[in-house]
Amino acid sequence: MESNVRVRFAPSPTGPLHIGGLRTALFNYLFAKQNNGEFILRIEDTDKNRFVEGAEQYIEEAMNWTGINFSEGPYKQSDRKEVYKKHIGILLEKGMAYYAFDGAEELDAHRKNHEAKGKTFIYNWHNRLKLSNSLAMEKREVEEKILNGERYVVRFKCYEENTIKCNDLIRGVVSVDPKLLDDKILYKSDGMPTYHLANVVDDHLMKISHVIRGEEWLPSLPLHVMLYDAFGWEKPSFAHLPLILNPTGKGKLSKRDGDKLGVPVFPLQWQGKESQAKGFREEGYLPEALVNFMAFLGWNPGSEEEVFSLESLVSNFNLEKVNSSGAKFDVEKLKWFNHKYLQLKDNFSIAEHVIKENKELKSEKVEMVAKAVGLTKERANTLTEVWPLCSYLFVRPKRYNEKVYNKISSELTLKIIEELCSQIKKVESFKEGALSEIIKGWINEKEYSFGSVMQPARLALVGELKGIDLFLMMEFIGKEESVTRLVELSKTLKVKII
Ligand code: GLU
Repeated sequence: MESNVRVRFAPSPTGPLHIGGLRTALFNYLFAKQNNGEFILRIEDTDKNRFVEGAEQYIEEAMNWTGINFSEGPYKQSDRKEVYKKHIGILLEKGMAYYAFDGAEELDAHRKNHEAKGKTFIYNWHNRLKLSNSLAMEKREVEEKILNGERYVVRFKCYEENTIKCNDLIRGVVSVDPKLLDDKILYKSDGMPTYHLANVVDDHLMKISHVIRGEEWLPSLPLHVMLYDAFGWEKPSFAHLPLILNPTGKGKLSKRDGDKLGVPVFPLQWQGKESQAKGFREEGYLPEALVNFMAFLGWNPGSEEEVFSLESLVSNFNLEKVNSSGAKFDVEKLKWFNHKYLQLKDNFSIAEHVIKENKELKSEKVEMVAKAVGLTKERANTLTEVWPLCSYLFVRPKRYNEKVYNKISSELTLKIIEELCSQIKKVESFKEGALSEIIKGWINEKEYSFGSVMQPARLALVGELKGIDLFLMMEFIGKEESVTRLVELSKTLKVKII
């Protein structure tokens, strides 16, 4: 079925894509999918000063990793300069925009002057005729200045009358008095449009039906509404998504907040020339978990249900049910989601990841690693936590926990280890059940306390008092290796005791 729904994600390539930006992409994707519409990626790269090498590739990689795939584009605004030039011409022609030649220093002086009087300088209706622009000078003078190559900007001639009514699908009607707004710059003499012009022109030409973006763009909405009117274009629907707040709820979630919490706020690791950042992918988070978590940043299904795949989000998501108040970033919730998805994930693919990430594991069979993953992943929240939880099943302990080591260090322990080794050697079918039976039988017979055997055994096999069931562990690492590790501990103990 043909659909008129066309939405876009329009990031500026100014650095790594923040989780808030990816959430915007997700909500656009969900809305497009559930309406059989198109989801367009548009790279808004007209601000040369803020352009960062590699950011565009990062955006696409992050979308790809999370499965938030666009169906049209990517378009790049820097390829469309002619389009914006034509459209600024239209506004100039209509008298809805004007050339301004004021230098940065002059404007700065005005600003300081106003500040000294306790006022704010706004370039708009009340002073535009006193400033250096085409509204305040002869046409010939303007032409001469342009011919002479004088630098200029083109400003929007903001309306002076009538309240501007902006409709937002999440917030309802927002009314603004245009007299309080400034004449925003739309275009510069270097042939580049600013965000506002390029954004509105593209949304119109690309037939965008719904503009879904972050709340930080709400203040730009009145200008955008005026621009649509100035061109005589029909407006799309607007929806401004709530901000993502740090866990205290005071302020926008920043990279610094993430650093403090020890979690990333970016989907992928970023290694830029000027900044580095951790990524959820590299920290062992699963894309399915991140998507599920992001969906709940500002939306919920209105039921107890929490686990949603990308597909089920498409059928359940409702743009009009998105909250207008800020959404707190709850790390524990993210870990909870990640734990859930990790348990659902196939052990073989986790094993492949573990093998790839750990040099110590080159020659191991993926089947064995998958088995170890299955035995231990229940305690892991992230992929990166899996290996430390099962490494002892493949590599000998490099050191012993000092406290436990000192506690068990005795002649009796040496004797117990020696006897334990001969018991183990006796077990023919080296399986958990048989091991448990024989060893427990021997403990009872000798009237040893359970701990006096289990603690040294665990210390020998793991290096600390952690890990899965001891007999299961022995079965996994095998008879020979179990004995070797026990002998290793007793050798070390002997040096200490004797
Ligand atoms: N380029 C803007 C940004 O970086 C896009 C805002 C919008 O979606 O209109 O977020």
